[in-house]
Amino acid sequence: MSDTNQPNEVVSDRRRRVNRLKKMIIITALILIIIPIILCVFLMIKVSSLQKTVDELMDLKQSGAIVAQKNNSGKTYYVYASDLQKNEQTLDYIIESKPLDNSNDIASTDDAGVGDIIVDDTQDDIEKEEQVDTGKYVYLTFDDGPSIQTEKILEILDEHNVKATFFVVGKNDEESYARYKAIVDSGNSIGLHSYTHDYAQIYASVENFEADLNRISDTVYEATGVRTMLYRFPGGSSNSIADDIYVFTKYLTEHGYTYYDWNSSSRDAASVMPTKEAIIETVLSEVSGKDNVVVLMHDSARKESTVEALPELIVKLKEMGYTIKGLDENSKPVQHR
Ligand SMILES: [Zn+2]
Repeated sequence: MSDTNQPNEVVSDRRRRVNRLKKMIIITALILIIIPIILCVFLMIKVSSLQKTVDELMDLKQSGAIVAQKNNSGKTYYVYASDLQKNEQTLDYIIESKPLDNSNDIASTDDAGVGDIIVDDTQDDIEKEEQVDTGKYVYLTFDDGPSIQTEKILEILDEHNVKATFFVVGKNDEESYARYKAIVDSGNSIGLHSYTHDYAQIYASVENFEADLNRISDTVYEATGVRTMLYRFPGGSSNSIADDIYVFTKYLTEHGYTYYDWNSSSRDAASVMPTKEAIIETVLSEVSGKDNVVVLMHDSARKESTVEALPELIVKLKEMGYTIKGLDENSKPVQHR
């Protein structure tokens, strides 16, 4: 019995093996088909999310918020057009140099006629409150613009019938040209903050500094018809990038420019953007006790909380008895160096 059964067993054993082999081939084929499909879907999702990021970054770059990008061990870092000081080693971004606490360093303005009333003659809206000259001044200054925030800032300033100063950088698109012009047309002050905002380039030599300065001066002149003599150093005059800042301060003075630093900072150049409340609190605490205050703020795409803080900040500063106005050639400078 067992002898006659043997061949049958061999046959069924072979069949089983063949079946198993077939199954394995089918499974392998399925895996080979399914894995690429899963990978494709995954990659499509990834590409779509990256495209979104790229679009956002392009928007920021377009608006001038990003001035440079840097690749470091496979990662891309973006350098924002704000007064940040760059540490090449760690690519950490450090908050701007501390504002001066010593209010003695601030000369009082000689156009401080007590009782003068500043009337905004560019406005038809007669219902707007007039600003009384209190002899205590706050100069709000916005660096790094123009940007997509410029119109909003101008609107808020107008609503509260105050003026500010915009230290602008170089941009050559149509929208930015319209924004340079809107700053001037609305009666606000415009100043130069370099064309490129590229510390390494600007501070490399007086020749570089001069070329950059003339470039931004011409740009602003072309857009607005105004040849401004107000200047703010990228990073302030106390920046740690320029080996010898006095070479540049001397150049500015000799060419009729006045440079302005600040003695209050909104800290809105920090890598972690402060909240609206934090900005208001910081500025109010630094303004307190001073008669002439230049406040550092930024006009840049990602500085939304600066814009949000502005209305309340203006109201509170007025309550503290400050006249808020734009810098002009008669304003005595606040200078770190
Ligand atoms: Zn800046």
